[in-house]
Amino acid sequence: MSPDTPAALLRASPLPPLEARILLTHVLGWRRTELITRGDDVLDAAALARYQTLEARRAAGEPVAQLIGAREFFGLDFDVTPDVLIPRPETELLVETALTAMEGVSRPRVLDLGTGTGAIAVAIASMRPDAQVWALDRSVEALVVATRNATRLLDARRPGGALVLMQSNWYDTLDTTRRFDVIVSNPPYIASGDPHLSEGDLRFEPRGALTDEADGLSAIRIIVAGAPTRLSANGVLLIEHGYDQAEAVRALLSAQGFVEVHSEQDLAGIERISGGRLPG
Ligand code: GLN
Repeated sequence: MSPDTPAALLRASPLPPLEARILLTHVLGWRRTELITRGDDVLDAAALARYQTLEARRAAGEPVAQLIGAREFFGLDFDVTPDVLIPRPETELLVETALTAMEGVSRPRVLDLGTGTGAIAVAIASMRPDAQVWALDRSVEALVVATRNATRLLDARRPGGALVLMQSNWYDTLDTTRRFDVIVSNPPYIASGDPHLSEGDLRFEPRGALTDEADGLSAIRIIVAGAPTRLSANGVLLIEHGYDQAEAVRALLSAQGFVEVHSEQDLAGIERISGGRLPG
């Protein structure tokens, strides 16, 4: 048995089988089923070398999404680089909750703070072609990635217009007269000393997208405090947060005058999103 066939490479791989298959189909440009139907093809030396490099980098810890430059989120295929947080499945709950909040609102104005890949903003804009969506990030490198995703994934003729991408540290560069119907954010909410920061994929993601270098709530405090002057009457704020932060975030929302303050559980049963409505 030749060692440089897909079947042999997958058998010998130190990686979890699914990851090895993802890297191999990426290198070969094949569909997953071709790994079976063409499992005994002998690969050329260049493809073999490319695969072996990616396999070694993955074995050393680099995230699969960064190695293949892509991650699926809300059914859309997002470009991913080391400059942005890798979209997570639990964040789809934030998109779903936002879409529910804007039901019945025509041409809703939506603001995404700390957009990163643009995943949240682009997913909302793709589901609501009439929405006017603004996406902000303080990282210029992230805005490059978000722009690429928005351009590739959104219909250029959508009635809501192109995604507005702007460099801003939270609300800092937003014109104070501008109002939104919905504000969403998946901010850095991991506390600076949390051991997860030095484990797994997180080691390779931008630290500024993960932690506030404080207690994990400082970005959320800024977002909540600034929301009342950015939301329209009856506007909704929705924030993703850590597994143990729901109570603290609900308290911040209530203290800021939000009503209908609630949390939503992710698929693992963890309260992952909290939000509220600004009274009319
Ligand atoms: N959900 C991410 C994690 O725990 C953290 C993302 C964030 O801080 N917004 O891996």
